[in-house]
Amino acid sequence: MNNIIVQKFGGTSVGSIEKIKKIAKRIKKYKDENNHLVIVVSAMGDTTNELIKKANSISKYPSPRELDMLLSTGELISISLLSIALQEINCKSISLTGGQSGIITNSYHKKARITSIDTNRIEEELEKDNIVIIAGFQGVTENYDITTLGRGGSDTTAVAVAAALNADLCEIYTDVDGIYTTDPRICKSAVKLNEISYDEMLELARQGANVLHPRSVEIASKYKLPLVVRSSFNDSEGTKIIEVSKMEKTLIRGIALDNDICRITVTKVPDEPGIAFKLFSLLAKNNINVDTIIQNLNHDKKNDISFTVSEDNYKSTVDICNEFASEYIETKVLSKNNVSKISIIGTGITSNAEIASKFFQTLYELGINIEMISTSEIKISCIIASADTDETVRQIHSQFELDQINILN
Ligand code: ADP
Ligand code: ASP
Ligand code: MG
Repeated sequence: MNNIIVQKFGGTSVGSIEKIKKIAKRIKKYKDENNHLVIVVSAMGDTTNELIKKANSISKYPSPRELDMLLSTGELISISLLSIALQEINCKSISLTGGQSGIITNSYHKKARITSIDTNRIEEELEKDNIVIIAGFQGVTENYDITTLGRGGSDTTAVAVAAALNADLCEIYTDVDGIYTTDPRICKSAVKLNEISYDEMLELARQGANVLHPRSVEIASKYKLPLVVRSSFNDSEGTKIIEVSKMEKTLIRGIALDNDICRITVTKVPDEPGIAFKLFSLLAKNNINVDTIIQNLNHDKKNDISFTVSEDNYKSTVDICNEFASEYIETKVLSKNNVSKISIIGTGITSNAEIASKFFQTLYELGINIEMISTSEIKISCIIASADTDETVRQIHSQFELDQINILN
């Protein structure tokens, strides 16, 4: 099937009935240009947060299966309302849940991964000339249990459906004009990038720039899917995510801030082979992703192991570590959940030793203590205490002259 465009509209874009009507008109314009359209939508505005609050007013730790059942309803409201709005302006449309769209996931509730997409139903509806509106962020297991893909997961629904349909383009419509050098809500002088490579975008997303769900970038990169992030409120061109960035001269492409992490330290672990394996395999078995890891050799053949996890894994991680620690006499678990991660990202980072030193110098001049550091080919991350991280991002942005990024190229 030719000329398939997948468009995804985020929560703010469908935040009210008025906005839904506006989006419907915008979609109609694309339909009138003879495109086959698949539309993925998120829940309206703050709906998902409100649903979580409701669940938490009954239970501090609601069961993941029931939480997924509850959260999936947010997207059902927006797909049906958008379909009603389209039909009202004489566009043929049909709304489909994740399951009806053939989206099958594994059974890790709250952070399920799509394992396959049977596109038959979507294609049938497109053949009937319907605009197909799919609920983002959800799928079903082989046993028809409803799952969700992790916060921000509608981006992944859109990209995965686009890849499965071999679509010509996937457009992510959001409340900013594209990908910026850093979060434009934090830093007024952030610059919109016309393009960014899949690798750089993936790193920005993984390090906390929630403008795209990391898994969506992984899938887009794997299938070389043309992906664009643009505003749902104006017609500006947005940012293309492409294979290799032409902006080679620029060393740093962006800064990401993640306030949603906590640090765990397991102290006085015996210094013997297999200990790290034992601890981290316990966490892996519980599907807990661990980020920055540091091991220090203390004394008397004892090590301290520190690492970070996302805040929603805080309690389960502490419980697992306590269980691990209970097997050793001196081992204790310390935890701190008011830490943040600031990362600088860019393909040229490792080719210039001055970058790391400038990054650390800026933190030093702000009187900020670095608790942990991690690096990869295209990023340097520092874990710091959470106080005034927005100002820290602004200072780093200005030190690296990211507000000049387009002038340099
Ligand atoms: P949606 O509801 O459309 O999915 P999100 O809130 O998930 O929107 O993502 C858009 C937000 O991402 C923006 O409002 C912005 O505050 C934030 N953001 C963080 N980093 C960046 C960045 N580098 N470029 C653009 N937006 C960013
Ligand atoms: N509604 C879900 C969330 O708030 C999914 C999404 O918006 O992408 O996380
Ligand atoms: Mg989002």
